[in-house]
Amino acid sequence: MAFRNLIQALPNLDIKENWPLAPLCTLRTGGEAEFFVAPDSIESIKNLYALALKENYPLYILGGGSNVLFPDGLVKGIFISTLNLNSLEWRTNLTADVDAGFKLSTLLKEIRERGLAGLEFAAGIPGTLGGALSGNAGAGDHGVCELVDYVICLLPDGEIRTLNHDEISYGYRRSSLAEGKKIILSARMTFRQATPKDKDVLENFLLRRGSQPHGLHNAGCTFKNPPGNFSAGKLLDDSGCKNLCVGDAVVSDVHANFILNRGHAASADVLKLIELCAERVYERTGIKLEPEIKIFRKES
Ligand SMILES: Cc1cc2nc3c(=O)[nH]c(=O)nc-3n(C[C@H](O)[C@H](O)[C@H](O)COP(=O)(O)OP(=O)(O)OC[C@H]3O[C@@H](n4cnc5c(N)ncnc54)[C@H](O)[C@@H]3O)c2cc1C
Repeated sequence: MAFRNLIQALPNLDIKENWPLAPLCTLRTGGEAEFFVAPDSIESIKNLYALALKENYPLYILGGGSNVLFPDGLVKGIFISTLNLNSLEWRTNLTADVDAGFKLSTLLKEIRERGLAGLEFAAGIPGTLGGALSGNAGAGDHGVCELVDYVICLLPDGEIRTLNHDEISYGYRRSSLAEGKKIILSARMTFRQATPKDKDVLENFLLRRGSQPHGLHNAGCTFKNPPGNFSAGKLLDDSGCKNLCVGDAVVSDVHANFILNRGHAASADVLKLIELCAERVYERTGIKLEPEIKIFRKES
């Protein structure tokens, strides 16, 4: 049977076909997803994952789309958004079970309203908890993974596995949760009682956002800071990357580690610009920058 018939036959799912990708990411670039679906139950995600594996069909997981670059053109495969998996349940006065599609900004607001703290570093980071755990999103020396007691994932073999905090390895903008084609479903997180100092800490993190560009579509920092206490932004700036452009993709003149879409950039423009910037820094310093943005490649 054609894959289209198989996927459309799955129960309780509103499968969209040839669905535009640009509105699904903060960079607003990309082509069309052959299939797009935003399931509201774990059962549905399990069914989709099992079908994709059985039929050897490409599958892409998406949260808030704030750290991704999609391919242009028609992309074969299923794009699964977690945005409808978005509940939060308090288990104790400090501990909550949070779904992967829950927005990080809403989580921060919620814990502050309850007089809790621990997530101040996430102020101003868009996207979902699942995306944040996958890349250990954070600021300063902090990352979201440090707050989890455990994470519940769907594994390629169909098993739902609970990974305790000490089974997850994580560091600067990386976590083992991104390995092995896991789908992050939810996490148990523990916060702490807030102190008056936490408000200042939060405001400090927000203040730092002032040095980032506002107003044009982007996907946050293009590159990770390389090891050795270097700043990717400074390396890019010193290599003359500010204002470099390919089509409508341009390096911000405010912060060289941000690529902006000033109108109708294609993903290919952004990709070319990423390569150009990395080349410039490599030629000048010998340092190879690693993209922080997750570049989705077409699979056959
Ligand atoms: C203006 C701006 C500022 C930013 N500032 C910061 C910052 O200060 N610090 C920082 O770390 N990041 C920052 N980012 C980047 C981005 O917001 C974070 O990386 C965020 O955590 C990504 O979450 P998301 O839900 O948007 O993930 P997406 O962009 O949707 O996905 C990112 C990656 O996670 C994977 N993924 C998503 N959900 C799941 C899941 N449930 N299971 C398995 N894999 C999943 C995707 O496949 C993809 O590889 C910024 C972005 C913008 C636009």
